Amino acid sequence: MFVKIISRPGTTREHETGSWRMGLKPQFLREKCIDCSLCALLCPEGVLKGSGKNTYQTDYRYCKGCGICAEECPEKDIIMVKEEDEA
Ligand code: SF4
Ligand code: SF4
Repeated sequence: MFVKIISRPGTTREHETGSWRMGLKPQFLREKCIDCSLCALLCPEGVLKGSGKNTYQTDYRYCKGCGICAEECPEKDIIMVKEEDEA
């Protein structure tokens, strides 16, 4: 049997891990973003990008829904929502 082990962080792009989420995903409110880039820097999967205020977004194909981005956003401009509630 072939088993693929992901041993390094940030290798998510090699594997579509979005299906690993446990019901919550980040929602970007785009109201108070100050373009600090913390969310992008701290996303353990490296799948959150942006290039200016209120432009940050994740790639839901790979986001695992860990919530670190929402927890660390200094402006609380990211919230975690149920999969079906995301706008
Ligand atoms: S919840 Fe946020 S920090 Fe976690 S993987 Fe998704 S985009 Fe990255
Ligand atoms: S952490 Fe929050 S304020 Fe900073 S860039 Fe990300 S969304 Fe914007």
